[in-house]
Parts: sequence; C-alpha cells; structure tokens
Amino acid sequence: MRANLLILGGTTEATAFANAAAERGLTGTVSFAGRVDRPKRQPLPQRIGGFGGISGLVDHLQAEGITHVIDATHPFAAQMSRNAIAACAQAGVPLIALTRAAWTATQGDDWTHVPDIAGAVAALDQPAQRVMLAVGRMHLDDFAPNPQHFYLLRLVDPPKDPPPFPDHHVLVSRGPFTAADDAMLMQKHRIDLVVSKNAGGTGAYAKITAARALGLPVLMIDRPDIPARAEANSVAEVMAWLDHAGVDRGV
Ligand code: NAP
Repeated sequence: MRANLLILGGTTEATAFANAAAERGLTGTVSFAGRVDRPKRQPLPQRIGGFGGISGLVDHLQAEGITHVIDATHPFAAQMSRNAIAACAQAGVPLIALTRAAWTATQGDDWTHVPDIAGAVAALDQPAQRVMLAVGRMHLDDFAPNPQHFYLLRLVDPPKDPPPFPDHHVLVSRGPFTAADDAMLMQKHRIDLVVSKNAGGTGAYAKITAARALGLPVLMIDRPDIPARAEANSVAEVMAWLDHAGVDRGV
C-alpha cells in the first residue's frame, strides 16, 4: 500500500519522524497549528492551521486520502490529540501517537505537582518571588492574577501583546538549551522558582537539571489526560507499525 501520512507536528519528535519518512521515500504532510511565526523547515510538504474540530479533520482525512495519522504533537496539545482519536475512529484511518515518557523526579529534585495551568496560577498566589515561567506564550494571560512576581519568560517568538504582569524579562530563543547555560541564566536573574510543564524528552529538560543543581523548587504542571490510543516511543517504533500495516517503503 502506498502511504499518504498525516503527521501532526510542532515538536522535535515530529520533525525527526518526518526526516525518517522522507529518507524512506514515504509520502505525507506535516501539519502545524500555526502557533509559531517560523515553524521548523520540514523535509515533507507542510500545511498550517487548524482543521476545524473533529468534523473538519474527518473531512480532511477523506478529501486528502490520508492512509495513516501520526500524532507527534506535544503532550500538552491534548485537544488536537483527542480530536485525532475521534476523527480517525470516524474515518477508519489508523492512528499512532509518537510520545515521550513524562519526567519523574530524581534525587535532589524539589517538585510540587499541580494538575494544570490553573493549578500553577493558584500555587503562585503568594508573596512576590522571582519566577522562571516556562509555559509558552499562549498561556501568559492566565498568570494575570499574580502580577506581584518577577517573571523570566523564554519564548520561541516575542509575545504578541505585553504580558499582563509588569515585572518581567523576555528571552526569545528556540533552544536547544544546556543545563549549564540554564543554571547561569537562573543565577543571573536570581530565580527562586521554576514553573514547567512536564513535557518529557530531552529538549526542555535543561532547566530541570539546572534547578536541581541550584537547589531550586519546581512547580511541575502534570500532563493532561488523553484517551488510550496506539503509542510509540521512538521513530523506529512508528516505522515498525507502518511496516506491519503493509506500507510500501517507497524507495
Ligand atoms: P491544542 O490546544 O491541543 O489544539 C488546539 C487546536 O489547535 C486544535 O483543536 C487544532 O484546531 C489546532 N491544532 C493543534 N495542533 C495542530 C496541528 N499540529 N496541526 C493543525 N492544527 C493543530 O494544541 P496546543 O497546545 O495549542 O499546541 C499547538 C501546537 O503547538 C501543536 O502542534 C503542538 O505540537 C505544538 N506545541 C505545543 C506545546 C504546548 O505546550 N502545548 C509545546 C510545544 C509545541 P482545530 O480544532 O481547528 O483542528
């Protein structure tokens, strides 16, 4: 069977999978939500923008003759992942998620878990501190109830509007980051607390290692729940799944 893959992207893992698929001569498209100004260049054709909910995605799968969906979105992109599960079930298109294991606290870590962004906002309802807020620019407005803190913001693109808290510093950088650099950054800004999503993987882990090295507490936002689906933890596992489904290698 000739593949026509839809790769739901926006992550390092999605780009790695797209590279491997292109090397094999597999055909498909990488899809971005359009959250960042310059998405990473892909070796396969790309499309940008939402599908229009579950029904829009069903239409897309059918109109484009998609044979397989690889959901390689970020673990916090739960809406997209839920929509993909429902749409693939409706359209009868096989789906696999390329996921990364969540981080777990290790010796020296001082984590307080919160279930979601709202939990992080509630936990910050305390006297002013110097906070490294690593939650992405989409969620900055949520932190408006706690304008007393200094916030160090590291973002892929500058915020579209000024953040709703007066005392902040914006660093625009896509990474990758090293633990040594992140430790220096935290020291330079005299950070007291790091707020992080439990992204998993290596790309965003430097700040966690740096916080441990400096003995800083981390407010760890736990992952949203996503219904059960086929999951792979590596590009090779997704390729094996496609092989098993009888997809032509293309080259
Ligand atoms: P989300 O809340 O789960 O998705 C909201 C809506 O955005 C979806 O319903 C869908 O719109 C659209 N969308 C999301 N991902 C899409 C994709 N890859 N292609 C086409 N449409 C997409 O997603 P999010 O948390 O805002 O994340 C958006 C993108 O940023 C994802 O691609 C994700 O991998 C990437 N990202 C997210 C985070 C994070 O912390 N959330 C971090 C790094 C990268 P329709 O309903 O109209 O289809």
